[in-house]
Amino acid sequence: MESHAPWQVGSKAILSVTGLGDLLGRLWAGGRQVVGPVVRDGAICLGPVRTIADLPKGLTDEHGPGTYRLKPRGDEALFGFTVGQHAFKRSILLPEVALVQLRRKGRDVEVEPATPKTQPLALLGVRACDAAALGIQDKVLCGGPYADSDYEARRADVLVIAVQCTNAASTCFCASMGTGPHLSNGFDLALTELLSPTHRFLVEVGSPAGATLANQLELTPVSEGDLSDAKTAEQAALTQMGRHLETAGLREKLQQNPDDSHWENVANRCLSCANCTMVCPTCFCTTMEDRTDLTGDIATRIRRYDSCFSEAFAYVHGGSVRPTVRARYRQWLTHKLSTWVDQFGSLGCVGCGRCITFCPVGIDITAEAKAVGAPARTG
Ligand code: SF4
Ligand code: SF4
Repeated sequence: MESHAPWQVGSKAILSVTGLGDLLGRLWAGGRQVVGPVVRDGAICLGPVRTIADLPKGLTDEHGPGTYRLKPRGDEALFGFTVGQHAFKRSILLPEVALVQLRRKGRDVEVEPATPKTQPLALLGVRACDAAALGIQDKVLCGGPYADSDYEARRADVLVIAVQCTNAASTCFCASMGTGPHLSNGFDLALTELLSPTHRFLVEVGSPAGATLANQLELTPVSEGDLSDAKTAEQAALTQMGRHLETAGLREKLQQNPDDSHWENVANRCLSCANCTMVCPTCFCTTMEDRTDLTGDIATRIRRYDSCFSEAFAYVHGGSVRPTVRARYRQWLTHKLSTWVDQFGSLGCVGCGRCITFCPVGIDITAEAKAVGAPARTG
């Protein structure tokens, strides 16, 4: 058995289901908004989680190319599913944000820079792929040449309460991307849900902020049996992982095959609807828009999500540089799995599988990446 409190970084302990409710209560009482999984319109979305009653109890999710269903698990699990259509990025890189407002004052114009109205956040139920995606977005949007002050302000006070995956979907391939299913960093607290013989959580402390929180909770020491149960549960996720992507040589292969016939093949199926980029936890493209109110006295510059699948996104003087679906799909896939490495030092995909599930025509990034540059098929 491990020693009792004070819990510190690296400590493991057991939290009861009631204790999880206490944790939620403390976070809200401390002024933090807790965002986590909730059921909405037959899907697991992200929303405010005030009590454990808000969590998707006893549900799991079935994923396939272009298909998604919730179904009962037959138990009381609170995190017995994988990932839904919402990525946690929407709480930090907001879908729409005001950047500046111009207000007419007589013959003058008053400029009011928008200051982000931030609230400390706790992200509950962050999976290994999602934690890796947050790390990728931080690299792009914090501190570097393209730093985004709104993102930085919101990201400054975010607690990550992660959940280790104990089941995986047929669309998951985080193991190929080296991002999961086990989460070993990028969290303040990580929970592993254990259902038998009693419903409980193995908690791992991942940061000083997590340790402060852990020391306010009623935790009990972890036993060898708890550790073994957690290992078995995590192993199940690895076994159930439904997809694989070979990443060795992928960066080079995609850059060497811009004219491969498979780009046309996928373009014939792709609707250029941008769903894949909206659900992707690493996509960060935005555009700006100016809006005026009905009086014409106030103009606001808005930053909102955009997508490389939109023809206007690549519009420069005289037209779009990516006028065809073939060019836009190639841009998206090549950026994720190849040129992202040149720009940011890692791949831009964490293997969450959302783009496969939520593509209305079931286009599968793992199959398309494999097919590009493959020897011509016959028959
Ligand atoms: S790959 Fe699928 S989700 Fe992405 S733009 Fe094409 S049809 Fe839409
Ligand atoms: S490209 Fe697809 S699988 Fe990869 S991180 Fe984005 S949504 Fe997930």
